[in-house]
Amino acid sequence: MGAGKVESSAAEPRTFVCLEFANTVSNHRADNPGEKLGSYADLVHWARKLEVLTDQEAEGLLEAASRKPAEAEAVLRKAKALRETIFNIFSSVAHGRAPLRPDLAILNTEFARVMPYQQILQEDGGFLIGWQNQSGDLSRPLWTVVRCTSNLLTSNELGRVSECDSDACTWLFIDRSKNASRKWCDMGTCGNRAKSKRHYARMHQQEAAEG
Ligand SMILES: [Zn+2]
Repeated sequence: MGAGKVESSAAEPRTFVCLEFANTVSNHRADNPGEKLGSYADLVHWARKLEVLTDQEAEGLLEAASRKPAEAEAVLRKAKALRETIFNIFSSVAHGRAPLRPDLAILNTEFARVMPYQQILQEDGGFLIGWQNQSGDLSRPLWTVVRCTSNLLTSNELGRVSECDSDACTWLFIDRSKNASRKWCDMGTCGNRAKSKRHYARMHQQEAAEG
């Protein structure tokens, strides 16, 4: 299968593009969240890195965006709004709550818009679900994100969707630990930060008690 060319819905990915997309911002609930998508080009580069687009598709989109800057700006705004919708839905799921109806309604609108672009493609003697070639459509990076969201919501991995315990992070991840007990997106970063925070708090309590 041509890695990066078209995504298969059958393979179980190690991670999910839709969660990675939600994670293009840190700390969703903050006034000044850490934003990775500063421009439409950032969105295209992100999609290329995640193999949502081929080099050729990415170049085509960047070229189209330079001809239609206002449209590219509008797609970026839409991408960010969709990102919040996806975050809200999976954050609710991660906390055992039902997603809000307006969020599901937005997702369904996007789902209905994107699905007609799907195509059965033949590759390496097999078949897979890819996309029609619509190089002029600047929202192309979002198609895969929308489909991934619908795939994950209906997959048996849904119960493993978790949100990082760190308030400064809020990244979503798939918890594949045995007891589904993972608290942080990454032990090396958020896990250690939480540990040293607790350690610092304990030291302070101790000092106060001794002083
Ligand atoms: Zn984290």
